[in-house]
Amino acid sequence: MIPRLALAWIHLLALVVGLAGVWARGRALSDSLRHPEDPRAIRRALVGDTWWGIAAALWIITGLWRLLMGTEKATSYYVVSHAFLLKMSLFLVVFALEIWPMTTLMRWRRKKLQPDARDVGRIEIISYVQCALVAIIALVAVAMARGYGAGVVAPAPVVSAASGAIDSVLKVADSVSRAPVVVRAAPPVPPSGTDSVTADDVALIAHEIAMPLDSIDPTTLHSSFNDARAGGIRRHHALDIMSPRGTPIHSAASGRVLKLFTSIDGGLMVYAADSSERFVLMYAHLDRYAPALTDSTRLVRGQLIGFVGSTGNASESAPHLHFAIARSADVKHWSRGNPIDPLPILVAASRW
Ligand SMILES: [Zn+2]
Repeated sequence: MIPRLALAWIHLLALVVGLAGVWARGRALSDSLRHPEDPRAIRRALVGDTWWGIAAALWIITGLWRLLMGTEKATSYYVVSHAFLLKMSLFLVVFALEIWPMTTLMRWRRKKLQPDARDVGRIEIISYVQCALVAIIALVAVAMARGYGAGVVAPAPVVSAASGAIDSVLKVADSVSRAPVVVRAAPPVPPSGTDSVTADDVALIAHEIAMPLDSIDPTTLHSSFNDARAGGIRRHHALDIMSPRGTPIHSAASGRVLKLFTSIDGGLMVYAADSSERFVLMYAHLDRYAPALTDSTRLVRGQLIGFVGSTGNASESAPHLHFAIARSADVKHWSRGNPIDPLPILVAASRW
């Protein structure tokens, strides 16, 4: 997703430009106070001010674009994110502080007003305060990107975090899931617009999911997520769970069937969305589907969806369930998405 990356890059670049600009403005104004006879100091302050203005314009344009076009996350995500509200409040403070310096410097530029020492001193202080506030905004933005302060969390109750072997991502996810619970809107859920995986997402799916085959302990399974397939040209990006032919397969999460699909590799397959519609769950090599399962069946977790088999490219002698999870920008495109390893998620899920 090049536009998304470019917007994030310009947004960050504006931070560097803006900080440098407002810092330079403050420095130049303090030089001007020490050497009032030197007109170059005020000129340098005006140059710094120009860069500060350019950065502000870039922030507003890229920020609104990302917010309104939903290029990063659905707009509703931002509205409930505490970190986002904090970031916007700080930005408004910076903007409010800028109103008087902006108009004053405009008058200096047009030579309608001679810089006087008191104004120079005030704008110098305001510039440094803005510098500090922008640095704090950067901290909040980094925290947001790492999933702190998000209001949208897993619906299930949170149990003890005493689980040992969960990887660090899941530990972060667990702490995030302790944030206040915000009830998600009823379906239809709008597409998230992104397939990038946050700690929030991992917490959500780990709280939603259950092992699709009965009496299998996920801690006894081995990840085959990164195994090479097709002679090394692609990765497996799924979990194979060996099981006798005809073993019932239960929906790992509540949600809905997106597509009953048949392919040369996967054989009989089910693509399903979870209830948040952020994820596509895929089950392959089925022997047969559950009766009455269709392309639009609503699913509850644990509902029978089919039976283990070896259709597609699975060995006749080794029937198994090929189970995959993908983060989806829009579940309408059920075959696309960003694959995540199901095993650590299932292990975490089995512990709460
Ligand atoms: Zn497989």
